[in-house]
Amino acid sequence: MAVKVRSEVAAIADDIIAIRRDIHKYPELGFDVHRTSELVAEHLKDLGFDVVTGIGKTGVVGDLKGNKGGPTIGLRADMDALPIQETGDIPYRSVNDGIMHACGHDGHTAMLLGAATVLEQFQEQLKGNIRFIFQPAEEGGGGARYMIEDGCLDTVDEIYGIHLWNYQKYGEVGVKDGPTMAAADEFAITIKGVGGHGATPQGTVDAVLVSAHLVTALQSIVSRNTNPLESTVVTVGQINGGHNFNVIADEVVLKGTARAYTEDNRQMIKRRMEEIINGIGRTFGADIEFVYIDGYPPTINNEIAYERLKFSAEKVVGNGCGLPYLSMGGEDFSYYAQKIPGCFFFVGSAPIDREIFTVPHHCSHFDIDENALLVGSSIFVQLIEDQLISSQ
Ligand SMILES: [Zn+2]
Ligand SMILES: [Zn+2]
Repeated sequence: MAVKVRSEVAAIADDIIAIRRDIHKYPELGFDVHRTSELVAEHLKDLGFDVVTGIGKTGVVGDLKGNKGGPTIGLRADMDALPIQETGDIPYRSVNDGIMHACGHDGHTAMLLGAATVLEQFQEQLKGNIRFIFQPAEEGGGGARYMIEDGCLDTVDEIYGIHLWNYQKYGEVGVKDGPTMAAADEFAITIKGVGGHGATPQGTVDAVLVSAHLVTALQSIVSRNTNPLESTVVTVGQINGGHNFNVIADEVVLKGTARAYTEDNRQMIKRRMEEIINGIGRTFGADIEFVYIDGYPPTINNEIAYERLKFSAEKVVGNGCGLPYLSMGGEDFSYYAQKIPGCFFFVGSAPIDREIFTVPHHCSHFDIDENALLVGSSIFVQLIEDQLISSQ
């Protein structure tokens, strides 16, 4: 089936794209999304919503209330960009040096504002309320946690969030129930040995040799401690150490990330890392410091919210919906989904003129197929129609 963009969304397509390009051109980092949140707040106020700013530091929440009671559905977008210098040659290229929307959050904000514009027209028919949630600091910083602390979920019954996804084509929607994105933890291992002359190893403790054993042994956690039917990742992404070719290194620092979909696997990885580090330290006589930092928890979709989302998304993209998409990436939508039933899903946005997978998220030439914005807005609108207008 061809994609069916809703007519109300198609009618404001130019506005949605213009908003996305405007935000793209003026990207902001972390909690410093002042311009973006002001733009969002103005848009929501113009629609006549009850708007609260400064929530979760620089977040914005807008309420569209029906007058028939009923549940409140939360729709969430993130607003922050990344510390990347944009290299793509586009007319709306970032003018903020070293900052770029390389993950699509500009699009998330534009899609949700587009949906807000359309849904305002349905206010009289709403058998419930809609809360539009715009948060800062998804790319590290855990903006969602601050939004929740400031009460953004109070009175909200369920929540939905989109990620534009360049690993899927236009017209595809990835959604599944249960685990959807992974816990994204971070670790640092500092190996302290005893340095010396490269030709006189006796009496030294070679931190490079210890690190080599450690990197190899850590890979056994995924291959030998994890149930093969569950996914985990242990990646050592950085090794720093040594002084010169003929010097035995006295210190090596390894940094990396661990990913898992369940709390049990997360704890198992942490425990096994400790055991392996202690064992190898003892074997070679090195002191090893281990720091493990919990990142975002896994994003777990609620079964009912998933069913509702899928039901509505299918009306927009037909059988392009329901590709059971999983990512070992992390996402702070997880904090919302820990509190109330939630569903996080992916809207295919790979640029049509380029090979799929050649414009990955977080790359300096990141861009999207802007038609995907209309798909995202349409799904939000369809979901509200199905849950708060045509239901019962
Ligand atoms: Zn990202
Ligand atoms: Zn993102």
